[in-house]
Amino acid sequence: MVISKTVSDASIHSTFASRYVRTSLPRFKMPDNSIPKEAAYQIINDELMLDGNPRLNLASFVTTWMEPECDKLMMSSINKNYVDMDEYPVTTELQNRCVNIIANLFNAPLGDLETAIGVGTVGSSEAIMLAGLAFKRRWQNKRRAEGKPVDNPNIVTGANVQVCWEKFARYFEVELKEVKLQEGYYVMDPAKAVEMVDENTICVAGILGSTLNGEFEDIKLLNDLLVEKNKQTGWDTPIHVDAASGGFIAPFIYPELEWDFRLPLVKSINVSGHKYGLVYAGIGWVIWRNKEDLPEELIFHINYLGADQPTFTLNFSKGSSQVIAQYYQLIRLGYEGYKNVMENCRDNAMVLKEGLEKTGRFIIVSKDEGVPLVAFSLKNNSRHDEFEVSDLLRRYGWIVPAYTMPADAQHITVLRVVIREDFSCTLAERLVSDIEKVLHDLDNLPAKVQAKASKVISGEENEGNGSGVVKKTALETQREITDAWRKLVADRKKKTSGVC
Ligand SMILES: *Cc1c(COP(=O)(O)O)cnc(C)c1O
Repeated sequence: MVISKTVSDASIHSTFASRYVRTSLPRFKMPDNSIPKEAAYQIINDELMLDGNPRLNLASFVTTWMEPECDKLMMSSINKNYVDMDEYPVTTELQNRCVNIIANLFNAPLGDLETAIGVGTVGSSEAIMLAGLAFKRRWQNKRRAEGKPVDNPNIVTGANVQVCWEKFARYFEVELKEVKLQEGYYVMDPAKAVEMVDENTICVAGILGSTLNGEFEDIKLLNDLLVEKNKQTGWDTPIHVDAASGGFIAPFIYPELEWDFRLPLVKSINVSGHKYGLVYAGIGWVIWRNKEDLPEELIFHINYLGADQPTFTLNFSKGSSQVIAQYYQLIRLGYEGYKNVMENCRDNAMVLKEGLEKTGRFIIVSKDEGVPLVAFSLKNNSRHDEFEVSDLLRRYGWIVPAYTMPADAQHITVLRVVIREDFSCTLAERLVSDIEKVLHDLDNLPAKVQAKASKVISGEENEGNGSGVVKKTALETQREITDAWRKLVADRKKKTSGVC
């Protein structure tokens, strides 16, 4: 029986039997006609299969797993615009509760039922823009009152700052004065930082959990040295702590460590809710010590249900799901739950670290105390380098970034594996064994060339006659392979330097 294509209704066709999978989708102009929703779903879903698996993305600090109950809460609030505070007063209330809870976690000097000063943001980047603007305005107000010029503000940081600080500096016209790193010391040296402070310094930014190797900077020492300098100079240079990753780690596993509002010069702190705050991408927090640290003229007051809701953000509309999910995590896990998660992460980082040390091939450049991650370099990268290790690990499904350190440690390349909540001990052991395979593969690469060369030399292969010619061929082969490798990793080298 011959069935004419036009006989049956197109809507009953399987997507894969339809024409939609036969034609390529428009990439530049909107198509003239609609396509069925099933086809649109299938085609986009299938193309996305080629993205990496987020769970195996060891490059990122950002949460890739949440409980199904929380997924459900997030999906059911996906159509709520956070900014409509009158319409969604409960969502606003949940964000305020999160601010209070986090401020208390950071030891803000608050009375028992006192409301904290802070705001939910899209991530630490927005949080840092807001904190930076508050410092800039506060400094300007003070300088203007003293009749001094305000045209040259700067922030002192380590050269290990995350790219958002450079963004802030460029967008809001503040100079970044960076303390250079050195081989073996990859965070800001507090003494050098304080030395660089001048009358135009709006703040010193310390990092709790350097993006590059997870190390905590010594905020306490920075505070003490700066107190001294302020006393000598009569300035009152404050500190901001970029606790994007460490803010949800230190309170739980290093509660004695003084890095937060316990230190008098710490005036604001940012943290990424979507890193160790354990929420999917799109949320961060900035908390100020006191009302006085957030200049009033930056705050917009919204009348919400007859009450005053102060707001200070860069954007207007955004989703509510992340705020709701943050509140879920805070009350669902509680102090106990966060502590257990962070301890597990730290223990699994240890498993990975010890496994890597056992290979005898790596130098570990992360610290035991800090963000649970393992940053490591090859002891000998003359034959093969870290970019090649990163490249070959992709074959096993792992995404492990390699990047060079900032000035003055540019000659150091590291690989970094971030241990998140959903990275179990089994996966850590699996990764070590795959790294061993990769090392083995790499060791064999030139060896194969060598084998071919010796075969050629011994006359087993009849390429060339005179031994001089043969040797040249073997060398050329080796060079070709090396060049191919270089080419392969060159692009990646450019791309992986901006890790998040
Ligand atoms: C991740 C990170 C940022 C940027 O945070 P987002 O939440 O991704 O915007 C800033 N600083 C440090 C130290 C970070 O690790």
